[in-house]
Amino acid sequence: MSTNKELFDRACQHIPGGVNSPVRAFGSVGGTPRFIARAQGAYVWDAEGKQYIDYVGSWGPAILGHAHPDVVKAVQTAAADGLSFGAPTAGEVELAELICQRLPSIEKVRLVSSGTEATMSAIRLARGYTGRNKIIKFEGCYHGHADSLLVKAGSGLLTFGNPTSAGVPEDFIRHTLVLDYNNIEAVKTAFAEHGSDIACVIVEPVAGNMNLIKPVAGFLETLRELCTEHQSVLIFDEVMTGFRAGPQGVQGLTGIKPDMTTLAKVIGGGMPVGAFGGRADIMDAIAPLGGVYQAGTLSGNPVAVAAGLATLKLLDNEAFYQQLAAQTQKLAQGLEAAAKAEGITFCTDSVGGMLGLYFSETIPTSFAEVSASNTTKFNQFFHAMLDEGVYWAPSAFEASFTSGAHTDEVIQATLDAAAKVFKQIKD
Ligand code: PMP
Repeated sequence: MSTNKELFDRACQHIPGGVNSPVRAFGSVGGTPRFIARAQGAYVWDAEGKQYIDYVGSWGPAILGHAHPDVVKAVQTAAADGLSFGAPTAGEVELAELICQRLPSIEKVRLVSSGTEATMSAIRLARGYTGRNKIIKFEGCYHGHADSLLVKAGSGLLTFGNPTSAGVPEDFIRHTLVLDYNNIEAVKTAFAEHGSDIACVIVEPVAGNMNLIKPVAGFLETLRELCTEHQSVLIFDEVMTGFRAGPQGVQGLTGIKPDMTTLAKVIGGGMPVGAFGGRADIMDAIAPLGGVYQAGTLSGNPVAVAAGLATLKLLDNEAFYQQLAAQTQKLAQGLEAAAKAEGITFCTDSVGGMLGLYFSETIPTSFAEVSASNTTKFNQFFHAMLDEGVYWAPSAFEASFTSGAHTDEVIQATLDAAAKVFKQIKD
């Protein structure tokens, strides 16, 4: 049996940084990444056989817990019938129907294979539909790694303190306006100056890539009003929040209807599926009906779609989301109480199956505020919890994820570990 360290050393020989996605490298928390051998329910096991309670959940998809038997069965059944055809299938139709039924703002939807593809395509479509170039995004929001979006992005980039990426020509981001999240005045000013040039606003309606940051009252409403007034396309990037923040994502929780929505993660049940959809008049501007090009060899892959369908069918259930939100709140409140008992500056917030942990006095509302939190304390907490068998996202700038498998027992075990850890790390 190889140790995590041996695997990481080997990985670093042939994979840049030893990982296939940067935040997995433990770059901001230090130490050796855990190589995961298997997962079941709320748990993952590393290559050395150590068990962890998992609050990463594959960064969002594992909302039913890992390896849910119905989802695994659906994948096995689909795989036996062939892995990919490059031709339409009934499963794709069913998944599209399900998405449109559950999210009424989506009249038509196109499937892709990742969140990055979904947002990249949605923006191209918004530009093609409006005939405009400029887009608005918000600092700390991550929308995947398409060139024009790698401007003050969150997630791995934020973790590495890298405001933009090398390899993106200045010209490519010339049309991207970056504003502060939750700054209503800044949005009004941007529209006053550039309104007739703005193709779209893309926003994480609850941000999950700079830790968890909720929209303040009036923020999303203002985006809706200004986009309507200036005929710009409002895109909710619900790649993370879709079918996780609630049964209809953040649009269901707030009642605000975007023109377009991007999805991924939960809708693939752990397999590579993304989607972008919205108003039919906008969606019909895409090939083969319209002039905006977009395509994919593995788009709507039958095995991936089977996993997504099985997952969404199990989520057709208000009670599941009520329970998920209640469990997440219980965890959040328990962690706060444990930190308070040791006099540690710490607070939490949650939405549905998303949790924010902040080593700060108050819950942050912007990138600047979250950046001021105590990352040294977070790193101590992260490693001590890992030793205790609890696996949080390896960065102070990521949200954490719960699932239907995070039962009372799992949450109590987490809180017991946290009580010990907060005692260890107090000054
Ligand atoms: N948008 C959001 C809101 C995300 O959280 C992510 C991934 N964390 C993406 C887009 C990109 O998705 P993917 O990693 O599947 O390309």
